[in-house]
Amino acid sequence: MVQCVGSRNDDHPYCSRICCSQAIKNALQLKEINPDTTVYVLYRDIRTYGFREDILYQKARKKGIIFMWYPDEKEPAVSVEHGKLLVKTTDHILGREFLFHPDALVLSTGIVPQDNRVLSQQLKVPLTQDSFYAEAHVKLRPVDFSADGIFLCGLAHSPRFLEESIVQAQAASARAATILSKKDIETKGNVAYVRSRNCGGCQLCVTVCPYDAITFDAEKNVAVVNEILCQGCGACSAICPSGTSQQHTFTKRQIVSMVDTCLE
Ligand code: SF4
Ligand code: SF4
Repeated sequence: MVQCVGSRNDDHPYCSRICCSQAIKNALQLKEINPDTTVYVLYRDIRTYGFREDILYQKARKKGIIFMWYPDEKEPAVSVEHGKLLVKTTDHILGREFLFHPDALVLSTGIVPQDNRVLSQQLKVPLTQDSFYAEAHVKLRPVDFSADGIFLCGLAHSPRFLEESIVQAQAASARAATILSKKDIETKGNVAYVRSRNCGGCQLCVTVCPYDAITFDAEKNVAVVNEILCQGCGACSAICPSGTSQQHTFTKRQIVSMVDTCLE
């Protein structure tokens, strides 16, 4: 008897879906090698997303692989008795305890991210609540970051299968090629600029810029905007105490004029 146990890591509650599918794939493989093998899959939550519902989960049910759910508070207990593995679990439908002596016990571990905080701060790119990197837009910009010129793919984005990583890597490299193939790059129209003669050198704008687009020229005591990196968020213009940092298409005069028009 072989037993597969699907699991989830409580420190990272993100369910990767990958380990569920992999556990069932392994179970089917065992059945293929020896159809008389009895395979139990103990699970707390199981997902075989997309077409895998049919090609893995439904197929596994038809092949006689037995799925047993257990609740959070009643995790299976594993011990060794007289040199044999002993697994105890409770069948929630029958309300009875089940004991197994499996030949093998396979723990399907989920994929968890490493500590990505330092790199995400250095690159000024966001993380998801599960600490993987977050794309700019799930559907419209799936391999872009909101910061221009940085792309993501594979496990940096989320747990995924190899073929998914390959497709995403192809998409990311194609996106990068759209930049590398150009001789010149046009910036957005609404980038920030600093009128150097009025800059007080307080560096508040450097601190608030979420894209690291402003540096401080200590020699000239003035903030300098990198127009390629600037995303036109307006944070530097809003915080600048002297009104020196301004944004093209959103100058103070233009904004006041818009407000006046609205109030008329
Ligand atoms: S507009 Fe936003 S991105 Fe551009 S320099 Fe100012 S704070 Fe940075
Ligand atoms: S916040 Fe304004 S005054 Fe201060 S460094 Fe930036 S541009 Fe200069």
